[in-house]
Amino acid sequence: NRFADLPLSSKTLKGLKECGYVKPTEIQKETIKLSLMEKDILGAAKTGSGKTLAFLIPILERLYCKQWTKLDGVGALVITPTRELAYQIFEALRRVGEHHDFSAGLIIGGKDLKFERNRMDQCNIVICTPGRLLQHMDENPLFDCVNMQILVLDEADRCLDMGFEQTMNAIIANLPLKRQTLLFSATQTKSVRDLARLSLKDPHYVSV
Ligand code: AMP
Repeated sequence: NRFADLPLSSKTLKGLKECGYVKPTEIQKETIKLSLMEKDILGAAKTGSGKTLAFLIPILERLYCKQWTKLDGVGALVITPTRELAYQIFEALRRVGEHHDFSAGLIIGGKDLKFERNRMDQCNIVICTPGRLLQHMDENPLFDCVNMQILVLDEADRCLDMGFEQTMNAIIANLPLKRQTLLFSATQTKSVRDLARLSLKDPHYVSV
């Protein structure tokens, strides 16, 4: 029941240790192994459960430890409802990914589209808000996620409550079908279930 007992790289374990994380939380324990097996997951978990690391750890492992060749382009896309959450995820990644040679960028507006696009071209991990991501997809016909392997829908219920249902559907329609998807939501409303049906394949349901 420690991170060291999970099949994680020494780089990740070192980052976790330096953050003071020794034991996985319930959601981390239930999902990390499944994620590493590339399963789709519907995770019922609230803020405070440790869900951020539950998706960041598998992203680091899959993109930087399990590949034969250096990843080209966006390999993981994390969609979260607000800028503040995007910053928090970015910060958590910076800390736990300290010993990985990762590249990550925020696509949350506040900078011009061209700046963000250049940034995105150089990143393997993109953390974004739904509206801004769709804007990039709409305005850039060459928007390219062919190497995307992991999609994370963080706080999906909040995204939907904020009126992003159509936006999320349009984003998902633009992404490669061959991918792993992790959906986290505090509540399981009908609209969350609809989004899950649209985005997940044979998901494992994990509730903490
Ligand atoms: P989250 O639910 O992802 O927003 O995480 C809530 C808080 O739990 C964050 O402040 C993390 O730093 C902390 N946290 C996440 N995973 C662990 C862990 N395995 N052990 C101790 N604290 C953790």
